[in-house]
Amino acid sequence: MALTSGIYLKCSHCGREVHVENKVNLLLAGRCPRCGGLMFIKYRKPVFKVKKNERGIWRYSLLPFFENRVTLGEGLTPVRRVEGVLVKNEKFNPTGLYSDRASALISSFLRDTGAKEVYVEYSEEFTKSLVHYLTGVSLHVVASSIFEMDPEDVMLFASKGLNIVHEYPKDSTILHYENPLTIEGLKTIVFELYEKNVKAENVVVPAKSGVLALSLYKGIDDLSEAGIETGFQVTAATLKGLNPQVLRNLRGIRIIEVTETELYEAYMKLLRKGFKIKPLAALSYYVAEITGSSVAVVTMGYKARTTGRGSDVKKLVLEIVSRKPLVTAYEIWKEKPAYTLRAVYKAVKSMELSGEICFEVRTRGVRKVKLYKLC
Ligand SMILES: [Zn+2]
Repeated sequence: MALTSGIYLKCSHCGREVHVENKVNLLLAGRCPRCGGLMFIKYRKPVFKVKKNERGIWRYSLLPFFENRVTLGEGLTPVRRVEGVLVKNEKFNPTGLYSDRASALISSFLRDTGAKEVYVEYSEEFTKSLVHYLTGVSLHVVASSIFEMDPEDVMLFASKGLNIVHEYPKDSTILHYENPLTIEGLKTIVFELYEKNVKAENVVVPAKSGVLALSLYKGIDDLSEAGIETGFQVTAATLKGLNPQVLRNLRGIRIIEVTETELYEAYMKLLRKGFKIKPLAALSYYVAEITGSSVAVVTMGYKARTTGRGSDVKKLVLEIVSRKPLVTAYEIWKEKPAYTLRAVYKAVKSMELSGEICFEVRTRGVRKVKLYKLC
């Protein structure tokens, strides 16, 4: 089966259809030849199926077919209730970023097409995730200035020996965050909400470029074409005045604008609850809280992959905290001093920051102590 069999492209803005046979790179470039709008990958025979034994996003039909899948186990992120608001926590992707869903598809595409060299336009989070996925491809990051990049990203790219360039050869393919494969990857969030039977009317996502909101809208549309009505409505939570470009003229997405002050208040509230979260991600939580009957798609910043001894300590911490809520880090250590006190403190701190455990501050004698519990 060829990568392009059974699919074609359709403009998300003006509806123009484009055939992709023999023009496989359109799947990655994907801008409308008429209006420049973002293109959707469409399926000639849309049927929705779930292969329960497959991992993560790969369990779903209605995705392009790849001979060589690249996967780190992205998708199937948990949905939990946080103080009355349902939260789909995208931190639980392999690199801690929602865009891992897109990286998996893009990397598979590049492997199938045998690409040797790729120029990627720098985009916060997207490029970072992609760097973890791409192997065997020479990757150049195209950025207008190093000073406009997240310093952590610059350090990551440097440590991996990647080039950061300002220009690229004329005939090279440049990969942008906004492309048809990104949309196909991100839309799986909606497939998961449907599969897990999440009861909510609004699916609220933070919107800066608007691509995530557009992707979820597309996922709902794909399901609808396959005869499944989810009842979900995509709500794009955005900052007042931001006006995400790709959402213009799209009637199917509700846009709710939040002021800087409202966002900051919501952000502080989430920080106090123990969330390590980027301000933009707080948007969806805030809007989900005020609209009700909502599930908020929340990205909570980078989660380091835990391996070996570190994750054993974390397991122990979780076990003790669930058995005996409201304990100090010291008490956790005393419960089972199999690890050093320092290792336990370190694990507790990192779990606190990533939102895996929560805490309350109480006064004991003359000092204030942090008592840990499950969230
Ligand atoms: Zn168009």
